[in-house]
Amino acid sequence: MNKSTDRRPFEKKVWLSSPTMHGEELEYVTEAYNTNWMSTVGANINEVEKIAAEKAGVKYAVALSCCTAALHLCVKLAGEKLYGKPAISHGAVEGKRVFCSDMTFDATLNPVVYEGGIPVFIDTDPDSWNMDPEALEKAFEMYPEVKLVVCAELYGFSGNIRQIKEICEKHGALLIEDAAEAMGATWEGQQCGSFGDYAAISYNGNKIITGSSGGCLLTNDPEDANKARKWSTQARENAAWYQHEEVGYNYRMSNVIAGVIRGQYKYLEEHIAQKKAVYERYKEGFKNLPIQMNPIVEGCVPNYWLSAFTIDSEFMCRQVRGECEALYISEAGKTCPTEILEVLHSLNAEGRPIWKPMHMQPMYRMHECIGKSGSMRAKTNAYIAGGVNDVGADIFQRGVCLPSDNKMTEDQQDRIIEVIKACFE
Ligand SMILES: *Cc1c(COP(=O)(O)O)cnc(C)c1O
Repeated sequence: MNKSTDRRPFEKKVWLSSPTMHGEELEYVTEAYNTNWMSTVGANINEVEKIAAEKAGVKYAVALSCCTAALHLCVKLAGEKLYGKPAISHGAVEGKRVFCSDMTFDATLNPVVYEGGIPVFIDTDPDSWNMDPEALEKAFEMYPEVKLVVCAELYGFSGNIRQIKEICEKHGALLIEDAAEAMGATWEGQQCGSFGDYAAISYNGNKIITGSSGGCLLTNDPEDANKARKWSTQARENAAWYQHEEVGYNYRMSNVIAGVIRGQYKYLEEHIAQKKAVYERYKEGFKNLPIQMNPIVEGCVPNYWLSAFTIDSEFMCRQVRGECEALYISEAGKTCPTEILEVLHSLNAEGRPIWKPMHMQPMYRMHECIGKSGSMRAKTNAYIAGGVNDVGADIFQRGVCLPSDNKMTEDQQDRIIEVIKACFE
């Protein structure tokens, strides 16, 4: 095997994407501490709501404990608008089909399930790696009664989210935009997070800026913003005592975490610039390899949160994935994600497979997934052979997320590029 190169591990692990603090965060946290605003009320929360709305170009932001909570309240708001108030504590979309991104993190659609909805997955556009608008049109043809779509922007590289919104409008459906990975990215000059009727952003530790955790719900409707704020604080009615007419949640953001986020927002552009440099160095470093970087389609200015690539099919060695394990057969001139991830691991660098599509997940395997040419249900086993109509399965089979940390040095990245190149020898 002629796959030797300098593989001495880095002393300090190079992460996929890790938090980067700058100092000002601590000042806001200290201010909260010194004034005893150690609660889910305070100046930092108010500021985060102001900044988040301003940056995203929407009227209102509601600061919450995480993006998943934000998405949950989005589903509740949309459900009430579409189907009326549920009779019980949950079930805002009970028994209703909801069209969802297929190649995403499962937090995108878990809240649909919390509320009794039935996710129907929409296959991925191979050109943008995002929800395929043609497949969405096909889905509305098959299920014209569907009134809700949840769409995520993958890795901070948006597809045509405007077209997704237009298709929703045409069919009288509401759009929830999961912009957890795409804060600061734009489509045709407009911020991701401002296209949906409701949207959610994340300050989880691995996102482009972080509060350690946290998220915001974004909307232009003042009533919806107030409702979400009320639900997030146990749904208390306006009375002297604890008065309750509906079920509530403990979803409000902490003023301590809001302090970190408030400090981080000043560095959003800097982090994006650093991530962009990482992406471009990979692109340049791999220019002679048979790979395709995650696509930037015309109209999108990404935030470059994660760099990723797919290996061209002819250069894939044999790789088989079970439920939780993978095997491959090493072959000269070819490689696969499993081999590349192994090599990255030996270098003390963190890579990751592409997010495994939802229709391939054990819990959603019986759910429908719709592609350009209709239901893919009959073809769910085809992905093993690189099935023709299953774009998500194909990108998953051939794709790798690369170490994309903004603190990675150029030397470290050069060595990562070298060991990956050696996999193709
Ligand atoms: C991270 C992430 C979430 C969840 O964010 P939390 O703040 O951790 O709840 C949701 N959707 C996508 C696409 C994500 O990447």
